[in-house]
Amino acid sequence: MIQLQNVTKIFNGSSVAVHALRDVDFRVEEGEFVAVMGPSGSGKSTLLTILGAMSAPTRGQVLIDGIDVYGLGVERQADFRHEYLGFVFQQLQLLPDLTAQENVLLALTIARLPYGVKVTRARIALERVGLEGKEDRLPSQLSGGEQGRVAVARAIVNRPPLLLADEPTGNLDQTTGMQVLDLLRELNHAGQTVIMVTHDARASSYAGRSVHILDGQIVRQSTNNGDF
Ligand code: ADP
Repeated sequence: MIQLQNVTKIFNGSSVAVHALRDVDFRVEEGEFVAVMGPSGSGKSTLLTILGAMSAPTRGQVLIDGIDVYGLGVERQADFRHEYLGFVFQQLQLLPDLTAQENVLLALTIARLPYGVKVTRARIALERVGLEGKEDRLPSQLSGGEQGRVAVARAIVNRPPLLLADEPTGNLDQTTGMQVLDLLRELNHAGQTVIMVTHDARASSYAGRSVHILDGQIVRQSTNNGDF
């Protein structure tokens, strides 16, 4: 479903060029839950932004569902992002003055759907993450774990084939972080493909497979059953 071929990303800084990714080959099949692990500065976020159709690689190709993501024009890239991808960020990025339902509805702003259908979809997404009955609460009226759930509902409301999570437990306490991971695992068991960036070995244990990056290269992969 997802294929990175010889992906290299070089940032040309003022003095030196940084090779954030070097010739990365990476495949993810539909229905997988993959953790991308590595220390700070190893290239994890760069990989995620490349997968997220947000930053073109310097060299190489990214195919998602057979689509050459960076062969699309900028406008079609935005459509692609909207149709194929859901994002959960480290900072959950909920708007404090909007209710849970309104926060989820924001992800449907550009969807060409009647408003009533959007509301139904938002309610279904909130139900899927276990927040039925709490749709009208503000983020401040929800626990940290529940706020995480709203962020996940917002990411899945478009029913994206691929969910990308960037350190989803980064800003959360341990219990709350585990609730979000449990939810990602639950969605994955229901068929959702998930790629999660994390530096936390505990978080990666929720994934079926871990890909370890060091200095912009994949150096090791492991499954819950061992290394390969
Ligand atoms: P990680 O997510 O694993 O912490 P990043 O992908 O953020 O790593 O960074 C990989 C390398 O690329 C680091 O050396 C970082 O400083 C560099 N880098 C990331 N983004 C930029 C940028 N926009 N401009 C210049 N260098 C960058």
